[in-house]
Amino acid sequence: MTSNDTLVTPKLDTYDGLLAAITPSAGDTREILDPATGAVVGLAPVHTVDDLEAAIAAATLAQPAWAALGHDARSAVMVRAADAIDAAAEALAQLLSREQGKPLNGPNARFEVGGASAWLRTAAATPLESEVLIDDGTTHAAISYRPIGVVGAIGPWNWPMMISMWQIAPALRMGNAVVVKPSEYTPLSVLALVAVVNQVLPEGLVTVVSGGRAIGAGLAVHPGIGKVMFTGSTATGKAIIKSSADTVKRLTLELGGNDAGIVLPDADPAAIAEGLFWGAFINTGQTCAALKRLYVHDDIYDAVCEELTAVAARMPMGVGMDESNVLGPLQNQAQFDIVAGLVQSAKDSGARVLIGGNPDLEAPGFFYPTTLIADIDDDNPLVREEQFGPVLPILRYTDLDDVIARANSVDVGLGGSVWSSDLVAARAVAARLETGTVWINAHGAVHPMIPFGGAKQSGYGLEFGVEGLKALGVPQVING
Ligand code: NAD
Repeated sequence: MTSNDTLVTPKLDTYDGLLAAITPSAGDTREILDPATGAVVGLAPVHTVDDLEAAIAAATLAQPAWAALGHDARSAVMVRAADAIDAAAEALAQLLSREQGKPLNGPNARFEVGGASAWLRTAAATPLESEVLIDDGTTHAAISYRPIGVVGAIGPWNWPMMISMWQIAPALRMGNAVVVKPSEYTPLSVLALVAVVNQVLPEGLVTVVSGGRAIGAGLAVHPGIGKVMFTGSTATGKAIIKSSADTVKRLTLELGGNDAGIVLPDADPAAIAEGLFWGAFINTGQTCAALKRLYVHDDIYDAVCEELTAVAARMPMGVGMDESNVLGPLQNQAQFDIVAGLVQSAKDSGARVLIGGNPDLEAPGFFYPTTLIADIDDDNPLVREEQFGPVLPILRYTDLDDVIARANSVDVGLGGSVWSSDLVAARAVAARLETGTVWINAHGAVHPMIPFGGAKQSGYGLEFGVEGLKALGVPQVING
């Protein structure tokens, strides 16, 4: 390699190299600002519908050879791609922290990059054999999964690297190519992640098209896309169902949630307080399956409020690049306004603010302080709507049947949780919640081998584990 080559081939395991690799040398660009400081993080390309067409054409060309490699050879390449993420992990985490706002530490940027690598590795290592359905001497039938072709991956801004990898990894494992459309709020994170894995992957197999809603809509309607993996709001999910109808696309929809947690009277408030806190405030509350409504039995209501307030008071919030912080800003002004409006509606109703609720509107960044609201009614907008920020309403209950009905009274059903010292009692309550997942004495913990998906208007289809791989293939039964 000549010194000139070194100049034109940035090293992706350094922050500057990574940023240089994804900075467009031509075409329209847009400044991406740090939500904590307002400083320019970098320039994102503004891709067009022509770019989308080119990406789909390249993916269509690359996919057959990738599929023909077979599972073992594909898995070996995917493991090398995960190694490349690990080698660039710190640079990726710094970019993610600056663009998304989340701190390096806590369950945030470094954790997210580690998750992207772990999900890729797990998808590579998960076997999916052809399954014999009947073999009784007269009938033989087996089911296996063929590649779909080109998969469209449309993602949100809250966990941009991890969620993109949740979509890319199983798609690749099953022999597909992928065109990725990141959120317009966090394109750099996804461009960087894909630049890193593309050091290893065949050309054209995974391409990022960085644009707004029109690019997402173009992907959802395109006849060259066989499946859309979508994570985002319920409203956009409904738009994608409509725009994908003409081509009968397969869909996996991971949509919004309004997860309830129920604390039974036998729970120990001091023991569960930190788990409750992170269940609600992971990623500063900007998490689909975060705890968004907490129902606590009257017997221990005051004690839980007190313990949670104590935990909230000691969790530092600030600029993500400061190693001491574990909570960050909201990612964008629109989300800040939603959170501020919902807290205002709670205050206006006479609900009690235990901590927070008083943003400093003069300070830089979209920081909303950690906020706990007690004595609030079920019909308050902060309880009915998804806040997606660092605010938790805490509601009182006395009757178990009644609280289960209240928990189930929303039209979404992503996750839920039950908190108790009695596992049998907790599981019995869990089975009555209308959600895709229920955690016991935890909330929101995901695992690459445990299927995850929503009920009701939180979407359909499963991600992760063997079920997640099946969702990225076309089932084929061979009968005979
Ligand atoms: P969003 O729906 O506004 O945007 C998501 C993506 O869809 C973006 O890339 C956007 O450009 C694209 N898009 C917008 N309009 C489109 C259209 N008509 N056709 C195709 N694509 C289009 O969501 P967001 O604000 O980025 O994310 C927050 C939401 O995502 C919350 O509701 C949250 O609960 C949900 N979420 C769900 C999960 C889950 O696993 N269920 C995970 C994370 C976030």
